[in-house]
Amino acid sequence: MSNSSNPLCINVGFLLNQPVGTSHDIPFELERLDLSSDLIFTGFEAVIRIGRTPQGMLVSGDLRAITKLECARCLSKFNQPLESEFSELYAFNRKSTTESDLILPEDANLDLRPLIREYMMLEIAINPLCRSDCRGLCPVCGENLTSTTCEHHTLNCEGEPTKYSDNSLARALSKAISETE
Ligand SMILES: [Zn+2]
Ligand SMILES: [Zn+2]
Repeated sequence: MSNSSNPLCINVGFLLNQPVGTSHDIPFELERLDLSSDLIFTGFEAVIRIGRTPQGMLVSGDLRAITKLECARCLSKFNQPLESEFSELYAFNRKSTTESDLILPEDANLDLRPLIREYMMLEIAINPLCRSDCRGLCPVCGENLTSTTCEHHTLNCEGEPTKYSDNSLARALSKAISETE
């Protein structure tokens, strides 16, 4: 049913002659899945359900995976768990297509990678953060302020960094900023 070089290519031909309402679940567990050069999953788990409808094959999926992202603040790499679900109709003909405009190919082979990629990409934040309170990098020396402090930042009594404890530096910086504006 699924192809060994691309496990996410499923042949749904076996359901074509089944009565409307028949469905079949296909579980997936892949240690690694490369969807594209910019989207690589580890620990990919999914259940794909193929259902025979009068209009075509309804493919739905529950997806779970981990991907490595770069934190928008501190630039460190971190593992982001992702979860998504989808339901799309691969129609038998043009008359029955939905908004997604998917048609069941003649050979009944469905490559689910583009669909999975599209849905998982929606789950990735535009500015991903390694942790919600990531303090980012010191703009002066580049130290990662979540794990260390530097001479430009000291922690106040709440443990929050106080920016530019050195007043002369703060003045120099605000002067530099006002000059560039
Ligand atoms: Zn971070
Ligand atoms: Zn610093």
